Amino acid sequence: MSSNFIIDDDAFLFAGQTEGLNDDNAPECLGSWRILIVDDEPEVHKVTELALNDLNVLGRKLDFVSVYSREEAIEFLKSDSDIAVILLDVVMETDDAGLKAVIQIRDELELHDVRIILRTGQPGYAPEEQVVTQYDINDYRTKTELTRNKLLTSVFSAVRSYSQIVEIKQSRDFLDKLTGLNNRLLSQGSVRKLAATLVNESVNLFKSNDSGLLAISRSDESNAPQGYWIEYGCGEYDAMADTKYEKSLPVQQVSIITEALNKRGHVLTDNYTVLYIKGQSSEAVLLLNTEQPIEISVSLLNTFTANVASSLDNSLLLRKVSDIAYVDKVTCLPNRAKYIQLLDEFTRGNIKGNIAALIDLDHFSDINDGLGLEIGNSLLNSVAERLKYQLDDSVLIARVGADIFGLIGDDSNITPEILESLFEKPFNVEQHIIPVKATFGICRKDKIERTGLGILKQENIALNRAKRDIKSRCQFYNPEMEDETSWRLSMIRRLSNDFKQNKLQLWYQPQFSAQHGQIIGMEALLRWPDGNGGYISPVAFIPLAEYSGLIVDIGDWVLQQACTQLRELNELGFSDLRMAINVSMPQFRSSTFVDTAINTLKQFDYKPGMVELEITESVVMDDPQLVIDGLRRLKESGFNIAIDDFGTGFSSLSYLRKLPLDQIKVDREFIKDIGEGGDGIIAESIIHLGQKLGLTTIAEGVETEYQLNYIRELGCDEVQGYLKAKPMPADELKEYLKTLDN
Ligand code: C2E
Ligand code: CA
Ligand code: CA
Repeated sequence: MSSNFIIDDDAFLFAGQTEGLNDDNAPECLGSWRILIVDDEPEVHKVTELALNDLNVLGRKLDFVSVYSREEAIEFLKSDSDIAVILLDVVMETDDAGLKAVIQIRDELELHDVRIILRTGQPGYAPEEQVVTQYDINDYRTKTELTRNKLLTSVFSAVRSYSQIVEIKQSRDFLDKLTGLNNRLLSQGSVRKLAATLVNESVNLFKSNDSGLLAISRSDESNAPQGYWIEYGCGEYDAMADTKYEKSLPVQQVSIITEALNKRGHVLTDNYTVLYIKGQSSEAVLLLNTEQPIEISVSLLNTFTANVASSLDNSLLLRKVSDIAYVDKVTCLPNRAKYIQLLDEFTRGNIKGNIAALIDLDHFSDINDGLGLEIGNSLLNSVAERLKYQLDDSVLIARVGADIFGLIGDDSNITPEILESLFEKPFNVEQHIIPVKATFGICRKDKIERTGLGILKQENIALNRAKRDIKSRCQFYNPEMEDETSWRLSMIRRLSNDFKQNKLQLWYQPQFSAQHGQIIGMEALLRWPDGNGGYISPVAFIPLAEYSGLIVDIGDWVLQQACTQLRELNELGFSDLRMAINVSMPQFRSSTFVDTAINTLKQFDYKPGMVELEITESVVMDDPQLVIDGLRRLKESGFNIAIDDFGTGFSSLSYLRKLPLDQIKVDREFIKDIGEGGDGIIAESIIHLGQKLGLTTIAEGVETEYQLNYIRELGCDEVQGYLKAKPMPADELKEYLKTLDN
């Protein structure tokens, strides 16, 4: 009960009239009802104000404006029509000044809402019944008839009927606007645009504070992370697209959003209006910053939210369709197709920033193979989350390939240091703690193409360069890389052709017992004729063969060829010679390598140990478990295993002990030292390590007698180098062996 003025016999009028627009606690700031008193007798003004002074209608007090003639009244209303009730004297400057004023107010000024109570000093000036209805006059009383109580009752009901008229009008306005909004919502192509339109227009519709946001549930998308996602905000929420509301909003807002979600209903507080929107396939909340509770009836609010819900349903349905084309299922990030579109926009200057970058997770497929697809997907999600929360909000993130993420942003937010810092900490995935390394290819805008696809290509070129670079995991694109890339591509094409045409050769470098000097075997080394009588160095083309994957087929051929050669030698009577063959990482990654090698060995039926596989440390380190598993099987089926170039990599002793090794090859690098002012101390420690582990040792690149004596004294078992023999073609090898026999 908001009235503090009780009228004895009319008390019923004041009871129970407070619901509607306002509640009992309606704050002062709601304003007041303005009453215009038009009367030529100043006394009447005073008496009227006194009588009505304490009246409180629907939570609001009355305010009075006094004018003293028809003319004054019209002038006033021309500039200020915010009046609820006019108490109008009929007889003023003329006998019918009041009636004239009524006609002017309704017809000329077109003020139809304001309620009019006519008063006259003496009977006989009453307007015709017809006039009363035609000009919508609320009440007509003589002043004597109008006791204080009658006046109160009359004003009270006039104000109420004014408020109803206004409310109906507002509702109609609101519904009109809503229809317009609906049409606009339905014509929005994307959920994001819909959200933008909705938030902006709601701000106007509810006259809120110029800021608001819409959080849409994504719980219907099975792969989406749990929780609500902010789709779009305006004002202070501008940059909030696609973040979890819990993480991005002040606690107070989170708690009222959560309250609305829990009770599945609207929450209206002094500062915020949170509307709960539930459609068939959508659930959302619209939060508006309001300085006071909005003045809309609950039924209108529900009409509003029901309309929004159906637009949202529609839009989500459309989005689902487009999601299939443009959104990555696992991470809900834009996919490759979308990334290319974004890059297109980026080249046109429609997306801020000057940097595009790719992030490639190293060895992701191993994690997938080793821990399973689900853990793999969870890891991708953890990486995506980390990118989102650690990178600046302005950076656009996409998933471009299985284990490749694409970024677009500014060079202040995307730097090699920032990118590397993303992978400093391991990722927690379910019960696993997975350290992940990554490689980065960055492309600056001033060097970029005009098409999205062009930039992606350049990012890729930089990325591939970074992958081949052991020192730096991050490369910036520069055009020279393309020259190099096209050179590499043409080399790879040539290598592939020459290999198919059987132009590759296998040469052999003999290996000897360091202690007794007799030949014990040879290492097979590839040679690629350059067509001019020379050879392209394996140091140059093996990496190309590895990079292109050609090494897998070439490696199978080498094994087959070397085994065939060994049989020929046996047939010529050179028995008990061991054939060493180099194996690269991509061969281990190929699913067929181990089986093919085992079959080849079976096919030739050699005694165990006659064919040796040389693995470099870097191969082991690249993927220890994969290599260890492969080597165990190879070893079981009769291969000898040697670790090549030992000491140049970074193998940890713990891995070394897990490898099923037979031999360690001391790298040429450490032999070179001996006698050239160097002390051979590394060679010495490697040989001793080999002995401790029970492995045979072989020194490669031995070029001088001094080096040979030196390693022999250290107890090194075998030796390979120009001092004894250089690599040679098969025919030459046979001749060479004959000279040894003699
Ligand atoms: P590697 O396995 O370390 O092979 C030894 C390299 O040292 C060979 O170079 C050999 O010619 C050279 N060498 C041997 N003794 C001496 C010496 O006393 N002094 C000097 N200065 N060099 C010596 P090559 O034949 O050019 O092979 C280079 C690399 O190419 C090999 O290094 C190996 O990593 C790779 N490679 C060669 N053939 C194959 C193959 O069939 N498969 C694979 N995966 N890699 C191969
Ligand atoms: Ca080797
Ligand atoms: Ca070597």
